[in-house]
Amino acid sequence: MEKFNRKNVSHLQQNLSRLVKKPVHLTITDNTHSMIHIRPSNSGYKMRLHHMFLEANTGVLRSLARFVKSRNRKAPSVLRSFVANNSDKIKRSPRKSRQAIVRSKGRFFDLHDLFHQVNSEYFENQLDCPITWGANRRVRNQISIKLASYSDRTKTIRVHPALDKSYVPKYVIMGIVYHEMLHHHLGVVHRNGRKMAHTRRFRQLEARYRHYHRLQEWKEKNLHRLLGR
Ligand SMILES: [Zn+2]
Repeated sequence: MEKFNRKNVSHLQQNLSRLVKKPVHLTITDNTHSMIHIRPSNSGYKMRLHHMFLEANTGVLRSLARFVKSRNRKAPSVLRSFVANNSDKIKRSPRKSRQAIVRSKGRFFDLHDLFHQVNSEYFENQLDCPITWGANRRVRNQISIKLASYSDRTKTIRVHPALDKSYVPKYVIMGIVYHEMLHHHLGVVHRNGRKMAHTRRFRQLEARYRHYHRLQEWKEKNLHRLLGR
């Protein structure tokens, strides 16, 4: 990632803080998917903004501040057109590798569709990250299986292709996608030098999944089947 001018970053942080009238913790990103990411923190907001916002004018920043405070799911048109007008600043990964990596349509489940359903039901459509079926590794004779994963580095959700089966209920795969989306939403917390993904907060939110208990039961009963035994 290119280095961003510290003075510009702290200037933007102060401006935003003044506009939302609360402390703002600002991180400037070079993301390809998420341009604006806002999370309430203890006393203010944690914001992750694409570096295009370093050059935003006052009108755009005012609109951003209103958006932060309103908790609307959809960004106002001023913001959306600002992002659209600056799309040349968004880094593109080479087409080829991107196509090779993201494969969301399976035989029985389309991960994109599931992602959008979970996103609207649990995250007010705020999440944005790639989701793909993982590589088809053999699972026979393994002791355990990682049903899905989230990469904090590439912000990508991978789902094990063993789940793309007719006997897998939709609430199971949806719950698994929900779990990984929570990782994207909450990020990884560093505590005493250790990376913490399944924090207490994570577990609390995880249990909000509508079919949480059914999902756990199903996994216990069917793991052997997924492992090909
Ligand atoms: Zn997890």
